Amino acid sequence: MHDVIIRGGTVIDGTGSKPFSADLAIKDGRVVELGRITAKAHRDIDAHGLLVTPGWVDIHTHYDGQASWDPYLSPSSWHGVTTAVMGNCGVGFAPAHHHQRQWMIELMEGVEDIPGAVLSEGVKWEWESFPEYMDAMARIPRIMDVGAQIPHSALRVFVMGERGASRQEATLEDMKSMAALAKEAVQAGALGFTSSRTAVHRTKQGASVPSLGAVDQELITIAQAIGETGLGVLQLITDWDDLDSEFNLIRKMVKLSARPLSYTLLQHDFMPLRWREVLRLTEQAREEGLDIKAQVACRGIGMIHGLECSMHPFFLAPSYQGISHLSLADRVKELNNPGLRDRILLEAAAPLSNRRLDSITQHLHKYFPIYKEANYEPVPAESISGIANQKGLTASGVAYDMMLEQDGHQKFYFPLYNYSDNSLDAVREMMIHPAALLGLGDAGAHCGYICDASYPTYLIKHWARDRTRGPKLPIEFLVHAQTQRNAQALGMFDRGALVAGFKADINLIDYEHLDLSAPVIVSDLPAGGRRLVQQAKGYAATIVNGQVVMENGESTGALPGQLVRSGQSGF
Ligand SMILES: [Zn+2]
Repeated sequence: MHDVIIRGGTVIDGTGSKPFSADLAIKDGRVVELGRITAKAHRDIDAHGLLVTPGWVDIHTHYDGQASWDPYLSPSSWHGVTTAVMGNCGVGFAPAHHHQRQWMIELMEGVEDIPGAVLSEGVKWEWESFPEYMDAMARIPRIMDVGAQIPHSALRVFVMGERGASRQEATLEDMKSMAALAKEAVQAGALGFTSSRTAVHRTKQGASVPSLGAVDQELITIAQAIGETGLGVLQLITDWDDLDSEFNLIRKMVKLSARPLSYTLLQHDFMPLRWREVLRLTEQAREEGLDIKAQVACRGIGMIHGLECSMHPFFLAPSYQGISHLSLADRVKELNNPGLRDRILLEAAAPLSNRRLDSITQHLHKYFPIYKEANYEPVPAESISGIANQKGLTASGVAYDMMLEQDGHQKFYFPLYNYSDNSLDAVREMMIHPAALLGLGDAGAHCGYICDASYPTYLIKHWARDRTRGPKLPIEFLVHAQTQRNAQALGMFDRGALVAGFKADINLIDYEHLDLSAPVIVSDLPAGGRRLVQQAKGYAATIVNGQVVMENGESTGALPGQLVRSGQSGF
């Protein structure tokens, strides 16, 4: 007797094979049989007309905080994710000494825009060392599996204290201590070690992150120690300003550790072809046997702006700052005052010392109002500048007035990266590169200005079904890319495919109706903190470890998720 049989669905098994029609049987949390199944089960699920895929494996989240207070890990659980990997980009909450907790919170607040009050109330801090953190994570029942990586910034501050936080050079002793702790973390089940080398990441006070500028020897020493375990991966984000020296560092880390490494790959407007050079170096390295991969996104890295969000085109204008503390309704009332409108528009037009404000008001040609649904591949005519041109108005005036619409709830999509060419052609090229991994949704982070946790749903909906502005991609490729390919890259060989013996992590998808709603702000975080979320439609059911955890968009209350530890599936 099986536990569950899913009957009559169209199986896309995650291996990259073409869709086929089959029943699928589950027992003890595993897939046990595929084909025409006559045996009986405790529960039959009718999947006629539905796609049956493995659950999505999201390798790039920042649920480090949320995983300690939210068993449902929304919004990822709404989007069919069954395994989420956290601790990316060098930030997280372990290891951490007692007296460093506040500092860690401020780092996360700055880098990932998770409000400090949310983290202070939400994070449980039942740990100091990384192994203790893993045990604390393993104790919490959860809707999906999670995996953790040890973040460089936390590790550096844990070992070096204030010297580490202020980015002083590590001594040989410091490096050895960090290396030993990173090794211990991986032995305790961390899926990898992560670091940030980008100037974009900053603490709440505006300081660079501790790991920025760490000398090569520090990273190599840590990577080598991890290499001794024969487990775990390396992940980092860097700006690629000095392409050769950064890539050489990556090569050395991989060569000397013999561990796989993935880095963040984005298209920047100020060097829109750099990503191709990075991929070329990656190809060369891979030909020499170095396992280097690029984590890429399936759409723009999109900021969501508006009066309710952390940013909008005028949020740094002094006259706006003067009213920024008011409630939304009161701000809308004030902003409707023509005198204030003139002042703010004048301030935004002046050459500014503040580059951030400058950069938004200079980019209204890729600033798109969001209507009922978000369009992530819009044409220039739909932008604020495009609308202003058609109406013979100034772009900033149009942005200002539109921002006040819907009682101030109007939102804008601002693809910060990956949209230099006004289309997703570059993204497509990145996605089909043999060294690509799908990631970068940053679920759990950037609460007030990014809402990309919905990437998995968008990937299928847009790239297999909806795209009109260029070629699409085969659905079996897309499913493979965000299931088995991601799982294997992180050393998880027990999931990501619907093959007998694999974990029964499964999505049942009403493909025709698969869709995303527009991003909205909700205030459901600890301490009443707000965040952007986006609903999915079309997931008939999501199954984790053989149990139905979501049905037609509602959670069933089942929490069968577990902590994934490195090496548990023979990596
Ligand atoms: Zn990240």
